Parts: sequence; structure tokens; C-alpha cells
Amino acid sequence: MQWIEKELQLLAADSLERYLNKSGPVAQSPGYISRGGRSMLNLSSNDYLGLTQHPAIIETMRQALLSEGAGSGASRLVTGNRLPYDLLEGALTEWQGCQASLVFANGYMANVGVITALVGREDVVFSDRLNHASITDGIVLSRAEHVRYRHNDMDHLRVLLHKHRDKRRKLIVTDAVFSMDGDQAPLHELVALKNEYEAMLMVDEAHSGGVYGLHGEGLCRQLGLQDEVDIHMGTFSKSFGMYGAYVCGSRMLIRWLVNKARPLIFSTALPPSVVAGTSKALALVQAEHWRRKKLNEASKLFRSSLFSSGFNIAAGDSPIVPLILGNNDTALRFSAALEAEGITATAIRPPTVPVNTARIRFSLSAAHTDKDLADAVSKIRLIGHQLGVLSP
Ligand code: PMP
Repeated sequence: MQWIEKELQLLAADSLERYLNKSGPVAQSPGYISRGGRSMLNLSSNDYLGLTQHPAIIETMRQALLSEGAGSGASRLVTGNRLPYDLLEGALTEWQGCQASLVFANGYMANVGVITALVGREDVVFSDRLNHASITDGIVLSRAEHVRYRHNDMDHLRVLLHKHRDKRRKLIVTDAVFSMDGDQAPLHELVALKNEYEAMLMVDEAHSGGVYGLHGEGLCRQLGLQDEVDIHMGTFSKSFGMYGAYVCGSRMLIRWLVNKARPLIFSTALPPSVVAGTSKALALVQAEHWRRKKLNEASKLFRSSLFSSGFNIAAGDSPIVPLILGNNDTALRFSAALEAEGITATAIRPPTVPVNTARIRFSLSAAHTDKDLADAVSKIRLIGHQLGVLSP
């Protein structure tokens, strides 16, 4: 086993070793995190709508815990399928205006489950280079040919689709909003290409569900493309402040997944209290428009303030605001300096992002106040000057 120690030393030498943060009590104020006895502004969570501590969700979970018990006891196809699942899937179907929905244990398992159920050895998957790791892992596990196109490059995708046009099944898969860059996929063009080449199109709305669309349905709905996307996937772990994931689509698709998606079939159903809490979260996502509005306005202001200060900020309009620093060590030093100023914002390094694009990935929440964010911008500017990232 000594090879592991050697490999770890190599990671550490490249500033690439990762550590779990010391856990602490929940911070008293929304949008904050407790670290080492200090309350820190949390600019690294995916709690976009600020729902993780919502009292109505907690109360719903408490009630369901008392009535349904702690665990579900089995996978859904055995005896784990309980009323909260049916209620949530009904509400999801109505929300998305689709034919049917299926809840998975988390987004990772949903992506792996869907992709492995839809394609196999004779097939091909076209995947954006910056897609989430769970999509990549699903493709690898499916044994289909894995064809990666340059990020959002539709000309490249077209060439690849043409090259593989005779394959049995073709699946195009993309994040709607990319998790480390915060930019959007060109969904109109992806729909046109999928129609032209008779491919299936799967969209992962992990970072756009709750954030876009009049009732938080996601980017596909905001663009009026909901009926053009064959497989609509999202997770409850971000805007919903919960845990779990959904897949929405045709009745036929959901019937197929129930029969073929291995993470659904061979893993225990989520605790019913979690599923019940998610139904409450879904109701809040739809009803509390002010959260989306506040988040979108704050994201615009935060992004433009950093950009006009001279930072290299990736383009986009989502609550994910990446400050690209390039060097791994600079990203770590920037993050440490923010920590000293009372801000938690994690350095993201390869292999999560391409080499030489290490960054601080800021992610905002409706729980942040205007003052929280204005103070943060001033501190980020100061550190930018101190570390020589900004010219004097
Ligand atoms: N897809 C994307 C785009 C993600 O960012 C994530 C979470 N980081 C997932 C899927 C996985 O979701 P979950 O955390 O629910 O497993």
C-alpha cells in the first residue's frame, strides 16, 4: 500500500491534495458557515435559493419522520416505494408539464442510471468537455463510445455527429449551466442538431433548476424548449436545499428507467422524510419568486463589480461566478486570504477544471444580503491587489 503515500506526496507537491474541512455547528445566519468557531460568509455553497434551513421544509421533514419512520428499508422496486415518492413525482410532472417523472437518490446516480439505461456498446454519446463528472462516469460505465466535443462548440459537435451518423443510438448530453464556469449551453442549437441527426438529447439542470424559468422549471423551460429535450434531469441538492434528483420526460422513458436504471433498482430508496421535505421545497421553489429575483440581481451585480475591477471573470449570468487565476498555488493563496477575511470560497483546481485554469468559484445565494456581497467585493479587490492578481 506504500504507493499511496508516494502518490499523495506528488499531489501535495503540486498543491493538489484535498482535505475535508473541519466540521462545525450550523451558522446562525443564512448564507454563512461556521468554521473553527467563526461565522464566515459562505460563497461556496449551492444553496442558491437559501432553502437549506427553511423552517417549513424542516417541519415537513419532522412530521414525515414521525409518521413514516427513519429509513425506507428497501429499494423502490421491492418495498421502499412509499407515499411521499408518489406525491413528489406527481408534483414534478405537473411542474415540468411532462408526462412522467422519476426520483433518484442523487444527481450522480441519476446521470449514471439514465445514461447506462439508454446506451450500450453499439452506441455513441456526444458529451461537452466540461460536463459534470457524473455524466462522464455514466458514459464510461455504459460502454458506449465516448465522444467529447469542445466546450459549447456546435461546429465541432456537427462534425462528430456526421462522423458517427451510422451508429445504432446517438445521445447528446450537456449541462444546462456548467458547474465550474457558470455559462449556459447553446440549447437551441443543440435541439436543432439532435433533430437533424436523429439523436436523443439529455440536459442536466443541476445548476439551473430553481434558478431559471418563471416557476424555477429550469433553462429549457425559460427558452421554451421543454418539449424538445428528451431527458430532463436535475438535482434537489442545490436550489432545493435538499438531497435527491429527478428525471422528467415521456411515460415511455420513465417506464424504461424503472426497468433498466441500475442505481434505482439496486440501491435503497431515499428516506421518506427526505422525499417529503423535497415536495415542500418544490412548492417553495415555485411559489417564492422573490428568491429567484434576488439571486439573479445579486449575481449580475457581483459579477459586474468583479469584472470592472479588472479580474478575469468567466462570462455568464448564473449565480456561479468563477474568478480565474490560472495557477494552483495562487488559487489556494487567494482562498486562504479570503478565509482570513471571514469569507469561505473554495479554490477549484485540476482535475476538476482544466490545467492552468485554477479558480475561485464563487456561488451566490438568495440568503446573502446586499451588504454581505458589497463587503465581499471590497475584500476580494483588496486581496487581488495584495496578491498581485490586479495591477496597482
Ligand atoms: N450534475 C451536475 C452538473 C452537478 O454539478 C452535480 C453536483 N455537483 C451533479 C450532477 C450531481 O448531483 P448530486 O450532488 O445530487 O449527486
